Amino acid sequence: MALSMQFSAEDEAFREEVRDFLDAHLTPALKAAAARQTTVFPDRDVALQWQAILQAAKGWAAPAWPKDFGGPGFSANQRYIFNQECARAGAPGLIPLGLRMLAPVLFRYGTPEQQAHYLPKILSGEHYWCQGYSEPGSGSDLSSLRTTATRDGDVYRVNGTKLWTTHGHFADHIFCLVRTDSSGAPQRGISFLLIPMATPGISVKPVITLAGDHEVNQVFFDDVVVPVANRVGPENEGWTVAKYLLEFERGGGGAAPGLREALDHTRALASLTREDGTSVLEQPEIAARLAALAVRLDAFELSELRTLAGLAEGGSPGPESSLAKNLSVRLEQDINTLALEVSAYYGLPQQPRGLAVNEEPLGPEAGVAVTGRYLNSRAASIFGGSEEVQKNIIAKAVLGL
Ligand SMILES: Cc1cc2nc3c(=O)[nH]c(=O)nc-3n(C[C@H](O)[C@H](O)[C@H](O)COP(=O)(O)OP(=O)(O)OC[C@H]3O[C@@H](n4cnc5c(N)ncnc54)[C@H](O)[C@@H]3O)c2cc1C
Repeated sequence: MALSMQFSAEDEAFREEVRDFLDAHLTPALKAAAARQTTVFPDRDVALQWQAILQAAKGWAAPAWPKDFGGPGFSANQRYIFNQECARAGAPGLIPLGLRMLAPVLFRYGTPEQQAHYLPKILSGEHYWCQGYSEPGSGSDLSSLRTTATRDGDVYRVNGTKLWTTHGHFADHIFCLVRTDSSGAPQRGISFLLIPMATPGISVKPVITLAGDHEVNQVFFDDVVVPVANRVGPENEGWTVAKYLLEFERGGGGAAPGLREALDHTRALASLTREDGTSVLEQPEIAARLAALAVRLDAFELSELRTLAGLAEGGSPGPESSLAKNLSVRLEQDINTLALEVSAYYGLPQQPRGLAVNEEPLGPEAGVAVTGRYLNSRAASIFGGSEEVQKNIIAKAVLGL
């Protein structure tokens, strides 16, 4: 059951415009790629192709960007409708690292020169970003990070390593937290740098996940020279910048439409007729689990709409983003778990990897991605800050405990 919302005639006209656009521009190949996606981020080429289409046809590659920075300046309702229609149509996602994570940081903390240089290149897809926050031994306790940036006139010399760098093997730029002072409290001596990946001294090593995907990497910095002009925000005050970015990573709004599509997909899988003429949807336990997920999703969607309304008025997601992250991740994992269970043996682990070997899916096409998604979404309660760490933030910053 979908959430019932009242929209104005203007909003409904906008919905029609989005639908017309999707009918005209969302190609079967892009839809097929999205349907088989099992990883956190879509395939780079698919995402960039879709980003270019959105931007060229409508200027819609960055729905959350204000007009002043080249975005469409959508209202909260328009953003919601846009997300909803894209999810319903089965459009691929975009890579959030530049568009939804670095961009808001540049809006607030970037110099006019940095804004003029980087934002258009993020929008066009010319720059592909990755995030250099975590290090071996510095994940949850991020402020203990040890990658150093030593000032040498107009440049910093960066040494150290970053871990779990998603799409670091595709990226041509990395936004990076570095230590510029070790004398005081750990949070005080951190700075936020923008570094081209082609800079001499940077190397990237793959890390293969449980699901068999190459999404994350370890990045090494060996005396990497970075101009001081590439720093965002004041020296030693990068922790504030870093936390602001994390609010958008954890709860920038817009997860609910995708989760609803995933739930609908799971329901469709459950309703497939099996060889004995029945479907698992007829089993009360399965129907009850689907209903319980739908209720949780409705509640989550309402709180996400509140966040979107605040964002459209120029606010930031705030510490409540930690709540949004935990709720959406649990929903995602529970939906994926049920999808795997109702697929039964059609969700066998050789799919979708085995498609390279088995030209046709072994079972229904709808079941091809379930195992990969189930495995990959285990990581969602870790990346962007673990579930336990979000609970600590909620206790402190939301509940004031
Ligand atoms: C798939 C994936 C993609 C990622 N992508 C990126 C990326 O692009 N860029 C980037 O910088 N990082 C990325 N990360 C890193 C991610 O942010 C860290 O893995 C995460 O913050 C946890 O840090 P850790 O791995 O060092 O685990 P640890 O910090 O060692 O935590 C281990 C366990 O201890 C628990 N724990 C730790 N401290 C506390 C506490 N104070 N209270 C209660 N429990 C606690 C944690 O919840 C966790 O269960 C990614 C991670 C994954 C898995």
